[in-house]
Amino acid sequence: MAYKRSSALFHEASQYIPGGVNSPVRAFKSVGGDPIYIKEAKGAYLYDEDGNELIDYINSWGPMILGHAHSKVINAIIEKAKLGTSFGTPTEIETEIARLAVSMVPNIDKIRFVNSGTEACMSAVRLARGFTGKEKIIKFAGCYHGHSDSFLIQAGSGAITFGSPNSPGVTKGTAQDTLLANYNDIENVKDIIAANTNEIACIILEPVAGNMGCIPPKEGFLQELRNVCDANNILLIFDEVMTGFRLAKGGAQELFNVAADIVCFGKVIGGGLPVGAFAARNEIMNFLAPLGPVYQAGTLSGNPLAMAAGLAMLQELNTDVDIFNRLKEKTDYLHAGLRKVLESKEIDFTINQVGSMISVHFAKEAVVDFNSAKAGDNQQFKDFFHALLAEGVYIAPSAYETWFLCDALTYEDLDKTIEACNKVL
Ligand code: PMP
Repeated sequence: MAYKRSSALFHEASQYIPGGVNSPVRAFKSVGGDPIYIKEAKGAYLYDEDGNELIDYINSWGPMILGHAHSKVINAIIEKAKLGTSFGTPTEIETEIARLAVSMVPNIDKIRFVNSGTEACMSAVRLARGFTGKEKIIKFAGCYHGHSDSFLIQAGSGAITFGSPNSPGVTKGTAQDTLLANYNDIENVKDIIAANTNEIACIILEPVAGNMGCIPPKEGFLQELRNVCDANNILLIFDEVMTGFRLAKGGAQELFNVAADIVCFGKVIGGGLPVGAFAARNEIMNFLAPLGPVYQAGTLSGNPLAMAAGLAMLQELNTDVDIFNRLKEKTDYLHAGLRKVLESKEIDFTINQVGSMISVHFAKEAVVDFNSAKAGDNQQFKDFFHALLAEGVYIAPSAYETWFLCDALTYEDLDKTIEACNKVL
């Protein structure tokens, strides 16, 4: 496949936009080469500026669970746009989507809409701090919760030391309030809590990690977190930006039957427009302005176009009773096919999957946390990525990302993908 026009566009963009992109991972930095410019997309396929057709396993990093340009979502946006694009006043559609989201997700009474997953997680932590009157938070190494300062903290030496910032611009003071734990390691969490009694406002995590490849929670891990939070007056925040409205109607809370205190959403909830949200029971949500003292706001929050896209998406997921099973079955099929291919090649690998989230690590040992994810063979991943791309299969350009499947994928597409893997490996 040729990518001449994409490369030219990238070089032009790089003159005016830092690194040529508006979000770093798009730049192909970790796999090398120039990124591909997409012109349009339909269903499970992307069409780039050079006329190539690609089967898409990124799906805009998660939102396009129905496939690209789904007619109900597109029509909802078009009809709404004709009425005006933003008023800065309340609109009825905000209540409609809020009512529907609250009815689909367990353990939440109220929801507030924002414009991104970053904003959702940032606001959830502020709310947890305001509600508990405590300042420190626990996050897990390798979990991503957006680019707000408190979350850009790298693992320090040892579990109970303070984190140090992994981006210039994050202050030491901020870093000190973020304590790092190892994913799937409940003893580590208990040690951190014991060393910081009555100081921890919340534990935030991805209930299925998707930002170090896909890493499922170990059996009982989420419930144990729930228990330690209850015992220590700590709020449990599930960052369901990836898992929400994807793993089940009610997200990871429903799938694993564990209740969170605050839930963050992004991606699917916006139907492909910029939407995030956070939600909790009344007691917590009533702490937010204008009802309560914790401030949070947004000029374009609850934007009518974004709400129309999100509402059309959630309505579809709410009425299509089989969709989550269908997605899981397709992903199981891909998983089985990939496993068979990889086993036949004598390559070290680990495939992790939960529902329609799946990833391949070129690592021998089980991948259960950030350290085991980092043990994967990155060169092998880069080669795999580029070779698959040449076969018209587009997976995320980093070994630390998850593949997302969409409902528009056919078994023929999956067979093509498995055959492409067989060929390139
Ligand atoms: N939380 C998780 C789990 C995410 O995967 C992401 C983005 N990939 C975010 C938060 C941040 O969302 P956004 O990029 O919309 O700010």
